[in-house]
Amino acid sequence: MRHVAIVGSGPAGYYTAETLQKAEDMAVDVIDRLPVPYGLIRTGVAPDHQSIKAVSRRYEGVALTDNVRFVGHVAVGSDVTIDELVELYDAVVLATGAPNDRPLDIPGANLPGVIGSAAFVGWYNGHPDFAGLNPPLDTAGVAVIGNGNVALDVARILAKTPQEFAGSDIVAHARAQLAESAVRHIHILGRRGPHQIAMTPKELGELGHLERASPRVDPADLPQEGDDALLEPGMRKSVTHLRSFAANPVAKPVTIDFDFFAMPVAIEGEGKAQRVIVERTTLDDELRSHGTGETYAIDAGLVISCIGYQTPPIPGVPYEHGRGRFANDEGRILPGLYCVGWARRGPSGTIGTNKPDGARIAELVLEDIGRGAGKAGRPGLDALLASRGVAPVTFADWRRIEAAEVAAALDGNPREKFVSVEAMLEAIGR
Ligand code: NAP
Repeated sequence: MRHVAIVGSGPAGYYTAETLQKAEDMAVDVIDRLPVPYGLIRTGVAPDHQSIKAVSRRYEGVALTDNVRFVGHVAVGSDVTIDELVELYDAVVLATGAPNDRPLDIPGANLPGVIGSAAFVGWYNGHPDFAGLNPPLDTAGVAVIGNGNVALDVARILAKTPQEFAGSDIVAHARAQLAESAVRHIHILGRRGPHQIAMTPKELGELGHLERASPRVDPADLPQEGDDALLEPGMRKSVTHLRSFAANPVAKPVTIDFDFFAMPVAIEGEGKAQRVIVERTTLDDELRSHGTGETYAIDAGLVISCIGYQTPPIPGVPYEHGRGRFANDEGRILPGLYCVGWARRGPSGTIGTNKPDGARIAELVLEDIGRGAGKAGRPGLDALLASRGVAPVTFADWRRIEAAEVAAALDGNPREKFVSVEAMLEAIGR
């Protein structure tokens, strides 16, 4: 038997398992520190994007095959170390994603009211680490820093009415707090211009169909229309949305302003965030932004930085600090140790990007491990965990948690998530 451990049960982990599982004499353990699987599908993808979340059914199909096992509520690093896993398994694949925010390195970034997108997204998605975040929504002004899809998710969630969350799985605490929100002016700050956004057309287009909020773009920020022809088709479509926002301003109670060529340089306030100081920028020939010295202030009691993510380093595992990912050669980190998904390539691409990535890493693993080295594998892990009093949550346990979440859902919603590890465990009688 060949034994592979995958650390992380998100898309990259399950796509890797999907290919491995088809090989003969293969036992795959998918380990996660939470008692619930699917990583970013559960706690990253926006709750009002259920069609994207539906891919978890595919991972469930993989999880239910005989040779794949979910080992939940086991923290690699404390319950078991990477070295122990490498000792026990023919291959260990780190599919740990990039759950940490890239730091916003400007004065005032540590003031209360300044929040990273990992925390804010985790909050509205019920990640146990962030359920108690309690973001200050008693402010009219919000600054969302970054011009990627996460900035769009965050702005949209802040702008929606309670009715617009129908059919979503936004968690109860976020639903309640957003319903009372005083937020009226959302600024999305991009340090570069409309042609440099990292927003995809479908997600950008959604902003034009919100009940009480309207997107606004200053026509003066848009490049000459003819220049759009040089863009690749997806980007061209995105920019078309921006042009339409600029051409058709609609008066609604909540505004979402796209501030382009706008680099946040400081956050100020008396003991908490009250305003963001923004410096206007220009672009050089290589499209890098440079400050012009001209600044303005945006009133914002809540500042959410959506400037990308990092994989947390693990002591002893080579790491590329500049890129926030494990140092790897096409997925190989060290003998017996691999990485996949955002942990391998950094936080880029869609959920689907992880499919070929997972397949490639699985093939690499199969090539490297041959027939296996007769390692202890599953029984070895079970014995080690039992000796430490650690009882993993199984996939059957998870299905009971899931059934309880589905049973608790409001009419028309897919589920009402448990937002603490204790509540998840309680649902399975622990
Ligand atoms: P992203 O796409 O890399 O965008 C990060 C943004 O932050 C960029 O606009 C970047 O600007 C800006 N930025 C970086 N450092 C900055 C700084 N110091 N000051 C100001 N701005 C700064 O990252 P993301 O939005 O976190 O998304 C991560 C991945 O998940 C992406 O591949 C995204 O498409 C994907 N995602 C997809 C969906 C969806 O399909 N619905 C939803 C959410 C996320 P520069 O370009 O100037 O560096």
